[in-house]
Amino acid sequence: MFKPPRSAYVHIPFCHRRCFYCDFSIVPIGDEVKNTKGNGTKVINDYLYFLKKEILSIKHKSPLSTIYIGGGTPSILDPTQMAELISIFEIHYGIDYGAEITMEVDPASFEEKDLYGFINAGINRFSLGAQSFNNQVLKEAGRRHISKDVEEACYWMRNAKKDKFIKSWSLDLIQNLPKSTLSTWQKDLEKTISFCPPHISIYDLNVEEGTVFQKLQDLGKLPLPNQDESFENSKLTSKILNNSGYLRYEISNYSLPRHQSRHNRVYWKGLGWWSFGQGSTSSPWGIRFSRPKNIDEYQKWVIDQCDKQLDKSLLVNSKKKLDLDEKIMLGLRTKEGINLKNLFIEEGWDENNSKKFMSKLLTSWQKYRDYDLLLNEGDRFFLSDPEGMELSNQIIIDMFNWWDQIN
Ligand code: SF4
Repeated sequence: MFKPPRSAYVHIPFCHRRCFYCDFSIVPIGDEVKNTKGNGTKVINDYLYFLKKEILSIKHKSPLSTIYIGGGTPSILDPTQMAELISIFEIHYGIDYGAEITMEVDPASFEEKDLYGFINAGINRFSLGAQSFNNQVLKEAGRRHISKDVEEACYWMRNAKKDKFIKSWSLDLIQNLPKSTLSTWQKDLEKTISFCPPHISIYDLNVEEGTVFQKLQDLGKLPLPNQDESFENSKLTSKILNNSGYLRYEISNYSLPRHQSRHNRVYWKGLGWWSFGQGSTSSPWGIRFSRPKNIDEYQKWVIDQCDKQLDKSLLVNSKKKLDLDEKIMLGLRTKEGINLKNLFIEEGWDENNSKKFMSKLLTSWQKYRDYDLLLNEGDRFFLSDPEGMELSNQIIIDMFNWWDQIN
């Protein structure tokens, strides 16, 4: 029996401008646009109108235990707009007592009074997109904020947490940005832990198609750390954060006890979630569905969903469990890893097939096991930290090849 999801992602696509590494579905609205007076620009209000229409179009509503408002730059919204958005969930879906309600904030479009405005709107967890504390690194990445903005935001978050106005907050960094060195990265990490964020996300830079970084890379003008330097950065991250009491509970995520992101675990565990807004991907019943990435096409799509009652986001008749390869991939990213035998049993494989296919997978993984990149305790397999996590892509690619062969 497939139950309605208990989690919802909401995409707010507006950014002042596009950062040089970013290929997300966003709408740049210019550096000068501020949303502190009234209800902001027409483009934002129009988008919110269609977003609400989409949220209300779901028929199988059920109380939510996590809501994640990401972007884009959700902190471009005025707190009154945020309050209205959350109240729609409250009235029409219900929000569980103790639910985790997270919002991403950008240090450049965020003041202390906004923090308390968003808290009053119902947000109880913030994710601060710091990326770095180094002004040169921030500039080279095309970010609008400077180190001072991040530090101020960290003080506000720390105080709000200390005074119990919020449950938790996360500081997000990008590892291996251009112009970063082992020494600048060490300073970033030390600065980060000086603010005691209960949660830290560290994303590795990927140079994506169509970004400024890709163009610079093609011209040979993107000074990225080489492979050895990246590995040294990763080792340093693990060492400093582990020594400071943070647990690496997923490849990109570290937390103090009891501060793991509940919303992200829904994705990693393959549980269902709603998703609303342009470019966002929902998976309410196992089938993934992505909305148009362009704002005009998204708005037309919402009209189709609601007025023609196409109800694409539901796909109730196409209920589907997560494929085994995807379960292994998501599980391997987490600290606890995966219990292969249990997964095969869940898939309904008999003992003979389980043994045969598990042995093939373990053969293709043998080289990683020889070097302690992939470890096991009985049938539970997990990546070593940082060496295995650093090479996780290769280990996962080999698993996908195994999956293609046995299918
Ligand atoms: S602020 Fe975030 S979403 Fe917006 S352009 Fe920069 S990286 Fe992309």
